Amino acid sequence: MMRRPTILERFRARFGGDPRVYRAPGRVNLIGEHTDYNDGFAMPAAIEFYCWVAVSTREDRKLSIYSEEFSAAADADLDSASHQPSKTWSDYPVGVALQLEQAGFRLRGANLLIESEVPMGAGLSSSAAIEVATALALADQSGWSPDRVRLAQLCQKAENEFVGARVGIMDQFVSLHGQEDHALMLDCRALTFESLLIPDSVKLVISNTMVKHELASSEYNRRRADCEEAVRRLAEVLPGIRALRDVSLEQLERHQDVLSEVIYKRALHIVTENARVLDSAEALRSGDIARFGMRMAESHRSLRDLYEVSCRELDLMVDLAYQQRGVFGARMTGGGFGGATINLVDARYAGEFKEKMAKAYQKETGLVPQIYICKPAEGASPVSSSDL
Ligand code: ADP
Ligand code: MG
Repeated sequence: MMRRPTILERFRARFGGDPRVYRAPGRVNLIGEHTDYNDGFAMPAAIEFYCWVAVSTREDRKLSIYSEEFSAAADADLDSASHQPSKTWSDYPVGVALQLEQAGFRLRGANLLIESEVPMGAGLSSSAAIEVATALALADQSGWSPDRVRLAQLCQKAENEFVGARVGIMDQFVSLHGQEDHALMLDCRALTFESLLIPDSVKLVISNTMVKHELASSEYNRRRADCEEAVRRLAEVLPGIRALRDVSLEQLERHQDVLSEVIYKRALHIVTENARVLDSAEALRSGDIARFGMRMAESHRSLRDLYEVSCRELDLMVDLAYQQRGVFGARMTGGGFGGATINLVDARYAGEFKEKMAKAYQKETGLVPQIYICKPAEGASPVSSSDL
């Protein structure tokens, strides 16, 4: 079989010249779901699936972008007075370029070739990977090195404003700050993190249900509104709170009567989920994976029963996971209504887990799940040509 050309060769064939190459990983969230937009805590890890961007400078102020996955080209003129989103893949890289410029990082024109191993729409955040890899590539070749927290914020802003998806900052943050063998306990208000070792004896197994229910984005926005309402009402009796992050379980229970039943359930998920992230971090600090697994099981139940963002397929996949050997914990990960589950599995049984899960899930649903055995990976970086 003929060898697949490398990204350097493909870049030369398309644009000519020698590019610089950058890569940024996808991620999975171990615990702390729907907490990022509540100023709370989450615990994502970058994973060994990367988006690669090869870049070279142009003499004009145009961006010429090619996506290998879409086999499609797109152009943008950085000097154009108005930029309209195209509602296609190119809004991600173009949106990032516009945010960098708006933040005062004047860019040089560039040829960009994008290629990604992060499966799209599988809950591994291919969107953050393309944003972050593009941001690093554009900033670097224009002579800028904005700090990484700033870059994460600009990438998030691009997705919020130009792509039009109201996402929190977790994905971009972990794609930029990921560390090999570590999960990050992320404080989404302070934008600081602690790296916590995931021992080699444990694998992160990501299992895609292969369904994405229509509800996903409308319900996501509704949950955000529910949380805002909870804060508005609680602030009347708890002056000074800014987000559910500021509310303790004891306070929430004491003031349950100011909330409707539904809003109380939503708030109860967020408040207890934050506490679970803190306890999971403690578990990792003391190397207690079993305790971490218990918090994952509770997180899933809370997302299912209180926050009500799970679905039949996710619940089934989690139930099936607990029937397998070597499982410490399993839960839905990401926004919900489909997407993937995250499973913490004893490394010795990860292969068997993957095989048996695939069979069992297919038997119940007729769907063939994609299952990935991962370990925490390094965040975004330039790639030297000798590594390509
Ligand atoms: P997720 O981030 O969970 O994978 P999203 O819907 O947030 O799913 O982002 C997926 C979108 O990101 C794709 O539909 C596409 O527009 C864009 N994207 C991701 N990877 C690439 C790529 N390699 N080339 C072009 N666009 C990409
Ligand atoms: Mg995404």
